[in-house]
Amino acid sequence: MASESTDFEELHWLLDIIQSADIGIVVLDREFNIQIYNRFMQVHSDIGPEDAIGTSIFDLYPYLDDDWFKRRVSTVFNLDIPVYTTWEQRDNVFDFSLKLPIHHETQCMYQNTTFVPLHSVKDEVEKVGIVVYDVTETAVNRIKLEDAKDELLRLSRTDRLTSLWNRGYWEERLNDEFRRRDRSGADVSLVMFDIDHFKNINDSYGHQLGDEAIRAVSRILLENSRDIDICGRYGGEEFAVVLPETGLDGASVYCERLRKKIEENVVSYGGQSVSFTISLGIALLGSQFSNATDWLVGADSALYQSKESGRNQTSIYQAGPKS
Ligand code: GH3
Ligand code: MG
Ligand code: MG
Repeated sequence: MASESTDFEELHWLLDIIQSADIGIVVLDREFNIQIYNRFMQVHSDIGPEDAIGTSIFDLYPYLDDDWFKRRVSTVFNLDIPVYTTWEQRDNVFDFSLKLPIHHETQCMYQNTTFVPLHSVKDEVEKVGIVVYDVTETAVNRIKLEDAKDELLRLSRTDRLTSLWNRGYWEERLNDEFRRRDRSGADVSLVMFDIDHFKNINDSYGHQLGDEAIRAVSRILLENSRDIDICGRYGGEEFAVVLPETGLDGASVYCERLRKKIEENVVSYGGQSVSFTISLGIALLGSQFSNATDWLVGADSALYQSKESGRNQTSIYQAGPKS
């Protein structure tokens, strides 16, 4: 009798611990009816024990992913093993909003959840315990870190004035395309272009308007390119584009469209307006280029030819006789 009352007292303390622990504890029977629903769960769900105990978890949480949840619980019952779910796999099992949304980034509680087998005196799995850990702090910090890494990577690859790929990253992509040519067998064209008499724009209208002109060219470039085209700012007012799956005909159409769009455009800044033109060069990737730099030199020499022939035009690199 004495030992029974001791057991009962111990049970009482245990219940106190379960109630006051800063983790969620739910116990379910085989029918998914709630047997224990501790204070953490009550506070975060705004559901009291009188409504929770004896109720099916699916009635209490209509948004629960039934199939997923049942699979977890039946694994615990059938295999007698605990199963874990982390916030990386799914944000949470119970969609609690934060009582004190100290995190500006999130209103929801991220959770790690463990489903554990609970045994009867005969050592059979009688119930399933669900333990819910609030890992919002860790999750938010990790997400912020990942976002910061993504942003750093983006910044390291893009040009600040135009948001086009910067020269370093663009050259990496150029090399990738060069190496890919043997595998894909498709035509790839390279376009280089440069604003005509850009020094005059700077000298006559100032650097601010010059910067606006460079931004305008970048915008028109992106508006007239496909997602797969690799557009970079190669230098000050020099741009370079890799056109995958594009032969000389396609590249010529692309260049002429770009040239006309830029010629028609007017750039304004501080009450002054200016229009200008570009010169372009195309080099189709072929066996005469033994590396990406040769290919680039090919496109640049076609661009030089456009400048020499009077500017505001497109030239195509012609492989000369090998010496
Ligand atoms: P060309 O027709 O032969 O290309 O003549 P150009 O005057 O455009 O010749 P060049 O390419 O030598 O001049 C480029 C000028 O672009 C020189 C430089 O001062 C200016 N520039 C380079 N980067 C920037 C920039 O980011 N902003 C502004 N405003 N000007 C730049
Ligand atoms: Mg120029
Ligand atoms: Mg230049």
